[in-house]
Amino acid sequence: MNKMTNEMQQLLEEACELARGHLGEGRVASYIPELAKTNPANLGVCVMTKEGECFQAGDTEIPFTIQSIGKTFSLILALETGGFEETFSKVGMEPSGDSFDSIIQLEMKNWTPYNPLINCGAIATVSCIRSKTPFEDYLDLVRRLCGDPKARLSEKVYNSEKRTGDRNRAIAYLLKSDKILGGDAEEVLDLYFRFCSVLVTAKGLARYGMILANDGVDPISGERMVDARIVKTVKTLMLLCGMYDESGEFAVKIGIPSKSGVGGGIVSAAKCGMGIATYGPVLNAKGNSVGGEVILEYLSEKLGLHMFQG
Ligand code: GLU
Repeated sequence: MNKMTNEMQQLLEEACELARGHLGEGRVASYIPELAKTNPANLGVCVMTKEGECFQAGDTEIPFTIQSIGKTFSLILALETGGFEETFSKVGMEPSGDSFDSIIQLEMKNWTPYNPLINCGAIATVSCIRSKTPFEDYLDLVRRLCGDPKARLSEKVYNSEKRTGDRNRAIAYLLKSDKILGGDAEEVLDLYFRFCSVLVTAKGLARYGMILANDGVDPISGERMVDARIVKTVKTLMLLCGMYDESGEFAVKIGIPSKSGVGGGIVSAAKCGMGIATYGPVLNAKGNSVGGEVILEYLSEKLGLHMFQG
């Protein structure tokens, strides 16, 4: 290992060590019963550079469900197939400042969800995907961008979400009654639950973060994987809304466009074409990974990754 490699490896291990000391500050999600079975001690981080180097510490190959990180993939698919105009006629681009599953704002903004990265906005976004095989297309996109052919549906989490997702069901029917959601609400919900229940790893998500950080191009093969305008839109929304009602504080402290999910993952598209993903299922009160945030704050400071810092 050369000096750079050694230093990066050491940083990741230090970050994990530091994060481990904070895991008592939160809890594993339990509102989806299947998620409550996750081991709270799981913790890992993976960094992928545009040169194709991969650095990892901790649990980077344990599969966990993508949950809200999947909202970025739904948005890519909706923009690719339904287009910008149609999608953003159903969902806004504003940070909500409310929790991920909030419904209070719907009535306050003509029933248009604030953004595609919270539940109501994601359900509206899923309805904008124009495809005869939306789940297959979604899974294919996740597999390609994560470089992980093993990404697949967790039937257990999917069934658990579908059985208990009454709040999301309420959101979908509200959206339908107010004409934001066209089509069949149950079909859209079924897709949404499936999208949330796809198993990924920190390693796969780090590659996805790296592709986003390189504006949609795989820097190793030179292949364009996602349209540049779509990536620009997704990354901007990640910075503004990717960490639910903690997005502002996260942007000030850490300053890297990121998206979290209640499965414990956070994906980040950092400066210099670097992708980072963390996994730690212990969540804080806002629904973000406690360990992941500690790791990202440490790396942002040590590697100078804050986007508004030279
Ligand atoms: N499946 C979760 C839900 O809809 C996703 C929430 C999240 O990761 O924030 O409740």
